Amino acid sequence: MARENGPVCRLCRREGGKLFLKGARCDTPKCAFERRETPPGMSNFRPGKQTDYARHLREKQKVKRYYGVLERQFRKYFSMAERAKGNTGEVLMSLLERRLDNIVCRLGFGQSRAQARLIVSHGHVRVNGRRVDVPSYLTRPGDVIEVIDRPKSVQLVKTNLEDTRHEVPDFLSFVDGPQPAGHVLRLPEAVDVSIPVQTQLIVELCSK
Ligand code: SF4
Repeated sequence: MARENGPVCRLCRREGGKLFLKGARCDTPKCAFERRETPPGMSNFRPGKQTDYARHLREKQKVKRYYGVLERQFRKYFSMAERAKGNTGEVLMSLLERRLDNIVCRLGFGQSRAQARLIVSHGHVRVNGRRVDVPSYLTRPGDVIEVIDRPKSVQLVKTNLEDTRHEVPDFLSFVDGPQPAGHVLRLPEAVDVSIPVQTQLIVELCSK
């Protein structure tokens, strides 16, 4: 299960925007991007005109880093989106948004996508009554995602729910209770993504 290692706040500075990779800390004045917006490793940074290629590349890198996927997996999603009916960019974002680790994060079960990924891979959640430990599992409308009935798992998720100020997106519904759960109401759309993404730039870059 490959993922990007290293200091994550650098990624936000590199992409020129907040990617919310550290959970609750991202909304505090401790956010590294709030304190220093220049790209990492460029103390004498002077903003200049970006090349066309750089604009396209940065948009793709931003999305990959936001969802925590590497190039190979991203290309796989892109070719799925290309083969599907509809606007390729919108289908691509919908596929990424449907990942189980993203859904767990957006329900507030995990404070960040990285933590949500661990929650899934350590077997703390069930989908439709079956334990699923694959973060890239693609959810569908009608799926029910719930915490397994083990005190340690419930405690972990409840603590995260208390610590995170999370807004559940429209395509999900959250059910509080002794065992927190969430329902996938419909397929997510590009507008449900919580950071601004110019999907057209990604499609133009990846179609070359
Ligand atoms: Fe990005 Fe969060 Fe770090 Fe701020 S605190 S730079 S939003 S990861």
